[in-house]
Amino acid sequence: MAAITSTVFLALPPPPAFAQVSRAVAVAPAPCISGERERSTESAVDDGEIRWTSTTRYHRARKHVLKVWQFTGSTVKLRPDSTTTVNDLEFRDYDGGRGDRAAVAQYVRDSGTAATDFIQFNRDKMEGRGQEYQNAAAAHELGHALGLCHKSGRVLSLMWTDIASPPITTPQAVDKANYRRMWK
Ligand SMILES: [Zn+2]
Repeated sequence: MAAITSTVFLALPPPPAFAQVSRAVAVAPAPCISGERERSTESAVDDGEIRWTSTTRYHRARKHVLKVWQFTGSTVKLRPDSTTTVNDLEFRDYDGGRGDRAAVAQYVRDSGTAATDFIQFNRDKMEGRGQEYQNAAAAHELGHALGLCHKSGRVLSLMWTDIASPPITTPQAVDKANYRRMWK
């Protein structure tokens, strides 16, 4: 009886803590799709944080992404703007049309000193979509605001050029690996 118990134990996967650590070590950052690059200097991050404001009507998507990008081990702080800080990023909406080439959402970076970047949602493409879809769009754009580039379909990533079906709404292991390489 004791021998059988022992065999069963050895066949079990490692305990969760160990499994988590080995997975984190095993996943390497993924390359950008051709023509893109990934640099911490091309982001909305200022002094280790993004101070944000919001006028978007997609509050739930905005709340969702501020949460999922503050995962265990993340280093960039995402905080509401205050009267004594510089506004790094504004969430807002625009009318971008319904055409096939119109974006669902965009990250617009202003390289000027103390300038405000934007994550802007195309109302024409966001309206009528499910919460998951809207969350996916917002999470992807905040990935860009954190400096991340697009990834190919060879890796499971939030940073594919198109919104997957079903939508990917949180940073994946690869996305966190790329994030960690920039934001140690
Ligand atoms: Zn994108």
